[in-house]
Amino acid sequence: MRGFGWSLILLLWPLWVGAGELHWRGQWTQGGLIVGQAPPGTRLELDGQAVPVSPEGAFVFGFHRDAPPMARLRAVFPDGSRDERQLTISPRQYNIQRLDGLPSSKVTPPPAVLARIRRENTQVAAVRREEIPRAYFLSGFAWPVTGRISGVYGSQRILNGEPRQPHYGVDIARPVGTPVRAPADGIVTLAEPDLYYSGATLIIDHGYQLSSTLMHLDRIDVRVGQPVRKGDVVATVGKSGRVTGPHLDWRMNWREARIDPALIVPPMPR
Ligand SMILES: [Zn+2]
Repeated sequence: MRGFGWSLILLLWPLWVGAGELHWRGQWTQGGLIVGQAPPGTRLELDGQAVPVSPEGAFVFGFHRDAPPMARLRAVFPDGSRDERQLTISPRQYNIQRLDGLPSSKVTPPPAVLARIRRENTQVAAVRREEIPRAYFLSGFAWPVTGRISGVYGSQRILNGEPRQPHYGVDIARPVGTPVRAPADGIVTLAEPDLYYSGATLIIDHGYQLSSTLMHLDRIDVRVGQPVRKGDVVATVGKSGRVTGPHLDWRMNWREARIDPALIVPPMPR
């Protein structure tokens, strides 16, 4: 049974690397995502924090934009043997833009909407924390739309000397109404028509606290609780929320870590 499972996995994941009993693919870099396979029953820890392993032995974890240069991975296998290693997380260079002399109304949202923003942030964070113990992420990932990349992960603006939150998504410019596809298998955990910043917003949970957020949509075609397959049309591109033009902003989270979606899909087709 286990032999069959492995040959299936090797077929689906030609890029597995690793040593001993742990295998993975992905990039050990800031914003990187690691998808791996361990013997079922393995207990895994990343920097002292438990990382769940699915009954089939699949696991996922990722690194934040500003993750420190070293991560410690520890595995205790079902037979009691251990594997402990230090892994280098390569740093990245982000695009930082300074803009000075702006009127303060452009920098700070009006006080009337601050309470709303706070409420929505709490709602989104709670949804991303949900634990759905299904390894949907094994479907692999694909671009939800293809087109010109108009914004990249990690970039940051410093307005009047005040650093703003970095841009954690990848922006793809396409006209309103362009179909948006599920980037991987998953289950819809949020479908909100009108959030202050992100407008019509969809969250698809790919299992084990990995999720995609699709923002600034025009139309949402799925509802909360609905399972989706990679490639299903789930929404259309829009310009809802605080944007200057139509585009899709695709974000990924593993727990609190913001993942760079561009690292886990093939290069954008021309
Ligand atoms: Zn964006």
